[in-house]
Amino acid sequence: MSERKIGQNGSMKRRLLVIYLLTAAFGIACMGRIVHLSQFSKEFKNCVDESAGEVVVDSNCNCIIRENKLTPLRGEIFDDMGRILVSNNSVFDVVLDGRYLKYKPGNIKRDSLYLTDNEKISWEDHARLREVVKSLAREFYDHFSDRYPFSLDYYERKFREAILNHKNVTILSSKRSNPRQRVTSDDTSFIKSLPIFNSRKIKAASFPVDLQRIMPYGELAKRTLGTFDYSTNKKSGLEASFDYVLAGDPGSRKYLLYRKIRVPIEGKIDPTDGQNIQTTINLDIQYIVYQALMDKLLENNAQWGTAVVMETKTGEIKAITNLTRKGKEGNYYYTEQFNYALRHECEPGSTFKLASLLAYLEKTPNDTTPTYLLCGCEIINHFGGKKFQKCYDSDSQGSTHRLGTAAEIFQRSYNEATATLIFRTYPNFKSYLNELRKMGILDSIKTQLGTIPPPTIRQKATDRRTYYSTTFGAGFNIAPIQTLTYYNAIANNGKMVKPLFVKSITDKDGIVKIYDTEVLHEQICSPYTVERAQKYLRSVVTSPVGTARKYAKFPVEFAGKTGTRDIWDPETKTYLKSRNSASFCGYFPYDNPRYTVIVYLYNITRMSGEAVDVFANIAQQIMNIENFASLKEFPVSQRIPSEKKEIKKIEVNKENWQTQLLGLDPSTAIFELSRLGYSAKVEGKGIVKRIEKINGKKVKLVLGAR
Ligand SMILES: [Zn+2]
Repeated sequence: MSERKIGQNGSMKRRLLVIYLLTAAFGIACMGRIVHLSQFSKEFKNCVDESAGEVVVDSNCNCIIRENKLTPLRGEIFDDMGRILVSNNSVFDVVLDGRYLKYKPGNIKRDSLYLTDNEKISWEDHARLREVVKSLAREFYDHFSDRYPFSLDYYERKFREAILNHKNVTILSSKRSNPRQRVTSDDTSFIKSLPIFNSRKIKAASFPVDLQRIMPYGELAKRTLGTFDYSTNKKSGLEASFDYVLAGDPGSRKYLLYRKIRVPIEGKIDPTDGQNIQTTINLDIQYIVYQALMDKLLENNAQWGTAVVMETKTGEIKAITNLTRKGKEGNYYYTEQFNYALRHECEPGSTFKLASLLAYLEKTPNDTTPTYLLCGCEIINHFGGKKFQKCYDSDSQGSTHRLGTAAEIFQRSYNEATATLIFRTYPNFKSYLNELRKMGILDSIKTQLGTIPPPTIRQKATDRRTYYSTTFGAGFNIAPIQTLTYYNAIANNGKMVKPLFVKSITDKDGIVKIYDTEVLHEQICSPYTVERAQKYLRSVVTSPVGTARKYAKFPVEFAGKTGTRDIWDPETKTYLKSRNSASFCGYFPYDNPRYTVIVYLYNITRMSGEAVDVFANIAQQIMNIENFASLKEFPVSQRIPSEKKEIKKIEVNKENWQTQLLGLDPSTAIFELSRLGYSAKVEGKGIVKRIEKINGKKVKLVLGAR
């Protein structure tokens, strides 16, 4: 080290010492002042404590204790693998206050317009001033035109007002209503590099900050995760039901206002940040379910649809998608608006025949003899119709006027014959309902997202018609998740578990609370009934007459029941004959069920086959990612034929991502990166052109034209 450097070091140390002493002296002086104020000042004893609700009466009062609330940071929401689903983000407005630019004689900072600290333009040079306005407008337009709807003209007008007319102008603001219209910290650092904005001499630009809730994956499970608005405190979904966990506790800081001097006083309470919740949702499965449902809804122009995936053993909800149709005919799109899965929006239709089947099997040890009319002739008697007509004589195979087994009735999904089975087994509606109640099918279910109300079956009804239509799922509504729950019990060998949405609560130190699987019924019906019901459900797919026979040879073996139901129109109080709700509830793989899934498509012209397609698509993709030993690879020829273009599926992994992500849409790239544990920053617009690794956790995607 040279001597000169040592000398410099020495003088630096001396300077630091002086600064230190000055600071210490100031600190001691301040302490003295506080001690003086609190111990000796008479005036302090008469201080008005506003924080305790006292009101300043005396206008001469010169000592007031006030309190500042300190806002805690809201907790975050994660998926089952710790990937972030909901987080906080600071967003900004862009304000240029032209009053600080205005020429002021004698003020050296305002004698000209400073573009940078060194470059300035005379206020007389109108041509150059106009150029500055134009070029700033162009920069803003180019940077924000993919997010904000404003024209180049708009920005020119704004900058003219601020720079030439010296007005206080908000150039852009972050919109709560539109998550795309946000000015982020990346944007403000870009803006700070522009002329005028980067000058440190004048502080005409400001960026008022606002805290917003963000969902990096947009629509994925939006209705279930819910919403939270920092400004109105309005909330829904998990944000509402777990608000007590996420919100945290505000802190406060008291200060004394003494002769216009603010003195902090002891007893600052730090805010406690909210805790995080880890959901049961799995981002990969959620993505599969969202895409599969979306494709089918678009294909059918359905009014809405829902699909839910439950893990059979634990009841954990791995994916939940609710999509509502928006837009005009010919130009429909779907968005998450309403949690259909948890509400009573529709009749179950034939999926409810499993409930009837269970009730039947519980009382029927021998169910294999063909003793039931497949037609409606027998049931007519219950409504005062003619007795048995000629039914027994015409025993041809092609006709329904013949005897069949309960299995055939279930596979073909005959309504009248299902009612026949039940009417023969249960003398009245009450005894039938008692059996359903025993199995927990009529109970309400208390979940972490609120209570699922029980099915709307008119349980007091004494008329035969209500009894009749209930047996095949008509005339009442049931929440799809309730259907899912009792189907899952059959997949789970009779044990009914509660749908679980949140697995644990965590804070910065780790897990605070764990939510375990809750058992609603150890055994909803006899093991013998369960065993037979599983075979019935499988035969819906494998039997040559089964309603899901299209998938008899499907590589993922599944079991379940279809439902097609006319839509009830509350306005005309009739069923719309050509409009259906199509559904399927089932589980896979059949031998050792991992997942139970319900799919519901509302208001389409086609039948339940559409819902089975969605189910099969979901089942196959989940099996693909789960990599089951026996089903590692499906031959291409066995893939589900799809009328629509296949979702582009790229195998992205730790080794190849830096090349595989090139050329993708940013949203797909961000999704893939998140699976690999990276967060992404995006620059520019278009598709991914270049990838820069910022650090071990963060990656920058540079976008460019297609
Ligand atoms: Zn008949």
